[in-house]
Amino acid sequence: MTVDTTKSGPLDFATYHNVINNELRSTATTRHSINPANSKPNPEVPVTTQEDVDQAVKCARDAFKKWSKTSFAERRAALSAYADAIEANADRFAKTLTMEQGKPLNQAATEVGMAVTWIRVMIDIEIKENVIEEKDDLKIVQRHVPMGVAGAIVPWNFPVLLATGKVVGAVYTGNTVIVKPSPFTPYCDLKLAELAIRFFPPGVVQCLSGDDSLGPMLTEHPGIDKISFTGSIATGKRVMASCAKTLKRVTLELGGNDPAIICDDIDIDAVIPKVGISAYLCSAQICMMIKRLYVHEKIYDEFLGKLIAFVKTLKIGDGTEPDVFFGPVQNKMQFEKAKELLGSITAEKLKAVLGGSTDDSHGYFIHPTIIDNPPESSRVVQEEPFAPILPIMKWSDEDDVLEKANALETGLGASVWTKDLDRATRMANQLQAGSVWVNSHFDISPKAPFGGHKQSGIGMEWGLTGLLGYCNSQTLWLRKSS
Ligand code: NAD
Repeated sequence: MTVDTTKSGPLDFATYHNVINNELRSTATTRHSINPANSKPNPEVPVTTQEDVDQAVKCARDAFKKWSKTSFAERRAALSAYADAIEANADRFAKTLTMEQGKPLNQAATEVGMAVTWIRVMIDIEIKENVIEEKDDLKIVQRHVPMGVAGAIVPWNFPVLLATGKVVGAVYTGNTVIVKPSPFTPYCDLKLAELAIRFFPPGVVQCLSGDDSLGPMLTEHPGIDKISFTGSIATGKRVMASCAKTLKRVTLELGGNDPAIICDDIDIDAVIPKVGISAYLCSAQICMMIKRLYVHEKIYDEFLGKLIAFVKTLKIGDGTEPDVFFGPVQNKMQFEKAKELLGSITAEKLKAVLGGSTDDSHGYFIHPTIIDNPPESSRVVQEEPFAPILPIMKWSDEDDVLEKANALETGLGASVWTKDLDRATRMANQLQAGSVWVNSHFDISPKAPFGGHKQSGIGMEWGLTGLLGYCNSQTLWLRKSS
């Protein structure tokens, strides 16, 4: 197969189409999302029908026959050129991401840059055959073969990075992929697939935008072999139930309510900015970030005062304005949910020492909020806010705080902050989460598997484990004589 690796030219970001079989396709009906920073309508995007899905699946299945037989080297070359092309268009992707998602331009540019890195690093991971036994007349080999057609269902918080992670995982391992963006953020994902036309044969990378009916069309489809889903726990359960009908393979990356435990020996001034950023980046709309902050009672008052002072320095506004840290929350539904949760502060007689209010005069803005020592049973502790609302609690007993940290049904990430590495290791070893950090939170890498324990997910993405999630294990028994 010849792959053209020279096509890094500019992409047009004015009009948006589905990408089916390397063709730009329109649909009879269109829709649009709105810019959450100013409530203005974004461009029209397709509303995919069942017939479009059937066509895309057929093209993906046809493409799989050849693509699955290409070598890792061929797929690496195509993906590498694709990464270069995304990088060449990074500015437009970042602006479009700010327009559709609301995150500040510098955070959008970081996300696009991460997507490029994720491709470049993941295609360097080797998937080896494993010789289980070899003797004179017999060789037993475990190998990893592609599954077929993957459906990549993407949420609205990190549409570029999360879609790209799924595309590279699927395509590098020899599968074909159909991306389904969130209806709130379809724009960058449609353009990522449009750019892919230049590097992959028809049917290998496709993208369908639609309304709420589209996700189930993919999870129900008998022609799709694997669903990689990132989103909420509630939807993840529906996805798994739907996939069970055809026994599709599923990876579920779901919600979290991560604890961070701050010990009494830390350097408060050095830790405050790290904790502040890890709790509020992307207006706290990240699955894996500090959502329950436990601070040792000996330093609680000083820590709280300095955290409030730090968060006050972070600017709130339209993400296109310079130096903004807090953009709007992404959509009306999320805004209303957050407003409702803010209502629980008064209803439950909690104390907001910062924020607690909203501003929807021009977009979906929530003032960064800190709740001072709410009880464990309060809604702000028990629920994932997915908005800049942070509960901070006092602790004194190590066993007790670990029990509280592990008490919920979620288990995505967790962290311990201390100078004492023995203590850190002892505490980290008891945390129930897919990622555990010492003296940081939300470190991620394309080399490192990422996923949740308990109801935060099933399976992992990224790293070798993530790539293997797009493969079936196959055991080959080779008898050397008949
Ligand atoms: P969501 O579950 O509402 O939607 C996610 C995606 O699923 C969207 O593309 C949506 O259109 C689609 N969808 C909705 N109903 C569907 C159905 N019945 N069948 C198939 N697809 C369906 O989630 P969201 O509001 O977009 O994202 C926020 C949530 O995602 C938060 O809970 C957050 O913690 C979680 N999240 C998790 C990770 C992770 O990697 N663990 C990453 C980002 C976000």
